[in-house]
Parts: sequence; structure tokens; C-alpha cells
Amino acid sequence: MKWTKMMIQTLRDDPQDAEIDSHKLLVRASLVKKISGGLYTFLPLGMRSLRKVAAIIREEMDRAGAQELVMPILQPAELWQQSGRWEAMGPNMFKLKDRAEKPYALGPTAEEEVTDVVKSIVSSYRQLPITVYQIQWKFRDEIRPRFGLMRSKEFLMKDAYSFDVSLDAADASYQAMYDAYKRIFARCGLKAYPVEADTGDIGGKFSHEFHVLAEAGEDGIAFCPGCGYAANLEKAERKVAAAAGEPCPAYEEVHTPNAKTIEQVSAFMGVPGSAFVKSLVYAADGKPVMVCVPGDRDVNEVKLKHFLNAKTLELADYEMVLKASGANAGSVGPVKPAQADLRIVADQALKGATGRIVGANKDDYHLKNVDLARDTAIADGDYADLVIAQAGDVCPRCGKTMELKRGIEVGHVFKLGTKYTDAFKAVYKNDQLQENVMVMGCYGIGVSRTVQAVIEQSHDKDGIIWPASVAPFQVVIDLLDPTDKAVAKVAFDLEAQLEAAGIDVLVDDRADRPGVKFKDADLIGFPVRVVVGAKGLANGGVEVKRRDQDKSRMKIVPTADAVAAIRELLAQ
Ligand SMILES: [Zn+2]
Repeated sequence: MKWTKMMIQTLRDDPQDAEIDSHKLLVRASLVKKISGGLYTFLPLGMRSLRKVAAIIREEMDRAGAQELVMPILQPAELWQQSGRWEAMGPNMFKLKDRAEKPYALGPTAEEEVTDVVKSIVSSYRQLPITVYQIQWKFRDEIRPRFGLMRSKEFLMKDAYSFDVSLDAADASYQAMYDAYKRIFARCGLKAYPVEADTGDIGGKFSHEFHVLAEAGEDGIAFCPGCGYAANLEKAERKVAAAAGEPCPAYEEVHTPNAKTIEQVSAFMGVPGSAFVKSLVYAADGKPVMVCVPGDRDVNEVKLKHFLNAKTLELADYEMVLKASGANAGSVGPVKPAQADLRIVADQALKGATGRIVGANKDDYHLKNVDLARDTAIADGDYADLVIAQAGDVCPRCGKTMELKRGIEVGHVFKLGTKYTDAFKAVYKNDQLQENVMVMGCYGIGVSRTVQAVIEQSHDKDGIIWPASVAPFQVVIDLLDPTDKAVAKVAFDLEAQLEAAGIDVLVDDRADRPGVKFKDADLIGFPVRVVVGAKGLANGGVEVKRRDQDKSRMKIVPTADAVAAIRELLAQ
């Protein structure tokens, strides 16, 4: 392929709305073009990488025994109403109506659709297990689209769904997808880690996310260097030793005017935040619950919601806080709240804690010398792990100290159970001709997001450094003297030889200065660069080097040996 025949427009300046390197490079290297907030066109160069990622996914899905199909993006509302998610998805889902006022959604995922399809075809255990997948555009009404393809309104996703006769059988389907994912990300040149995750709105019991570690990642991951335990911050557990509190004198009131937050009271009293108990009132299924955590920690609402077994959980409004505790939010505490039977739950680290400072349930007052066991009505069973994990916490598996990393989620695997197959009555007959509900799993990969994750993980100050497997072209030939017929012939002959060898190559045949070509080659990040010029040919051949090697590694090879040398560089 010749550069002058391709629609490429590299840019010197970063786009104004780009906050992270991979977003800047996607646009500057002419891979994508923004249409509007959260909407991007894949330009020809970007499309080539997108197709390569999709091809790897397809090969590994097929190899794992999954079958490809494709389902409509436009999904009738009744499918979503049947599962109860028409409301539950809330404003994240694009909803629209046809001319007859029939409601639809632009699919953000397809559990409902696929369950409806499979139940209409599968009726016997003999037809199971089945795993089907599609690579299809998905939609999400992001409140704040950002980070390029990371949080966009429209994105390409591979979604797979497994159907099995039992939970045990579903384990094997899950494992097959888990293993396929490891191969897929490795082949894309990505270091992706499986991370334990909460199951969120999808439902089910158990899941892993695959994360690419990157400073710019949006998700926090607790990671144990001792045993490899990794979990996202919603899910991450920690081991907590009981607080071995010394006995303390009876509690007493302290006047703390104008100090509302832990930081303010802590500065006012001159004691560290860890001496405090942070108390918040939540509405769990509409009823007030007080939650106490150490003053220097934050409540993990996902853990709290699970612990309370609540369908909905949100911070209580001003009136509920006042009624439940007797004070405004800044002075709430677990000792004698206004509502005598208020349920109070507390983080495990507070069990046995003494000498703590808590809100007095009286505006502008705190209590010091509080012994939680002595002075509060928190039941033994209401202590649990309720905070967001942080660096320095103790690993729940091996007891070593955990680190905090940041990651970009590129894939997830979920064990769904029967949430959707129950809702859709997706049943099969067993060998006794009895009807049983199928057990499901679902498995996603952000295809467009993976392209950007590769860039985020592999770039330098000059541009992208593509792994050969997903680069738009594996090789660029910088033709320095396109008007010199003899030199041009060498470049175009080499192009033909490389193409015949199955290596894709772009010849930069523009009339620009060498400096411009080298800059663009580094910016787009082709894995191997070949320089063909009159000077080099006079010195014995063409110059070759890998993008990730510096200039000193540039070597001259005779034209006749160029294909072999390039192949060797690509294989390194
Ligand atoms: Zn560990």
C-alpha cells in the first residue's frame, strides 16, 4: 500500500479534549476522528488495527468451541421488560420508538436477546452445552464521555454467552472462555491480569475482569505481590486484626463548633483521622441504616449493599439523617441515636475499638473516649468488611501487604446462573424428559477499547509502539527519493516481496522531507521501519530498525537480504 493512496492525516498538536496519552495518539496518528462527544470514526489506519484485534478474538473464540452469530442492535423493549432491566438500566440505555410508537433500546449488551434466541432453538440436553458470540456495536448513554474510545457512547464489543445443563457444567464453559481470554490478550501484545470483580447489574455470583495495568486506568485494583490475588476496589477484601483497645474512661462531650468533616474536627482537636469513627446514614430499600467506619477510610457501598442484602442503597437525605440520628450529617454517631432501634453496622476494624471520637448526635458536638462494645448497640454480627481496600491493607489470602494499581478493563467473564434463563423460561429436557432451567455465563471484550489499551500500554514520547500482531501495518518503508526511479523501484520491489511473504507494509512515497517521514513513522508506530534512499543504497543497501530500538541499532542490509532481516526483526 502507498501512503499517497491512503486517507491519512497526522497531527502535530494534541486534541484539546484528550486527557490521556492513548487518546491523544489515537487522534494524532490518524487512527480515529471524533464526530461528536463519545462518537468516533475509525479511519482506514485505525480500522486495520480494529480488524486485526477482532480477527484474533474470532480465531480464539472459534478455537474454544464458541459459534459466531450476529443479533440486532435495535432490541424490542419487551425483551428488557421480561428481565426487569428496562427500568433497572436507567438512563444509561438509549431508548427510542418506531413510527408506530413501539419502544426499543439500542443494545448495551444482549443477555435478553440471546436467551430468547437460544430458548427457541434448544430443547434437549443433547444440544448443550452451547456458547455463542457476536462482534457487534454497543451503545451506552455515558453521562460524561471521555478518554477517547475508553468511555464512548458507541463501542465495538465481543459478547459471548454460554448455556449449560448445570452449574458444574457451566464451570467448564467459564474456564474455556477464561483461558481463551488469556490467549487473546497475549496475542494482542497486552499484559492483561484477571481480577476478581463484583457482578453489578448483570447479576450472578462470580466474575473476573481482565485489566491492563496503566497509570491512566480508571479502575483501582488491589494487588498482592505475595500470591497474585487481584480484585477491583469494589470487590477487594482485606484481612483485619481486631482492634486490641485499652479500657478507656467514660465518654464525654466535646464542643466542636464549625467543624463538619473528619478533617476539620481532627485539625480542631489535634488528633489523627484514624482516632475517629466516621458515621453515615444510608437509606437501604428506603429504611435508614447507620454505617460506621474508621475515620480515615471510605465506605464501600457495593460491600455494604451486599451485606445489608438491599435492593437499593443511597445516602439518606437531610430529613432522614436528622430523624434517625438527631443531628445533621457532620455530627452523627453510633452512641444513642435519636431513633432508638436504628440498625447500626460497622467495619470489622472497629470491633473492640476503644478511646474513639464519634459524632454526638447533637449539632456541633462530638464524644471522646467511646468504647464501641460498651457504649453502642452494634450487634456482634453487624461488624463486617465494609470499606474500600487501599494500599497497605493485608491480603485476605496470604497475609502479605497489598498494593494499589490502576487498570483499564478490557474484558470480563461472568457466571450468570439462571437470572435470565429463569426470566425467559429457557428450559431443556434432561434424559428423564424432565424440564430444567439452563445455566448461563456471559463474556465480553471491548474490541475498540482494546485497541486503545494497546496504545496506552505501549507508547513513548514520539508516538505509538505497536505489537506486530495488531499494528495497522507491520512495516513502513520510508522512500526518501520518490522521484529517483531506481530508488523507487527498490522500495516498490521490496513492498511486493513483503506482501508476497504475508507481511503488510506501507510505503511512504510522499514528496516530504525525510524528517517528516521519520516523525510520522514514529508517531503511528509501525513495528519495523525500512529506509530506502540513494545514500543508503550507495552504502550497500537499505536501513532497517524496530520502532522500539533507538537509532544506534539501525543497520544496513543488502537489498536481497531485506525480507529475511525484516522477518527476523518482526519475530523478536
Ligand atoms: Zn496474597
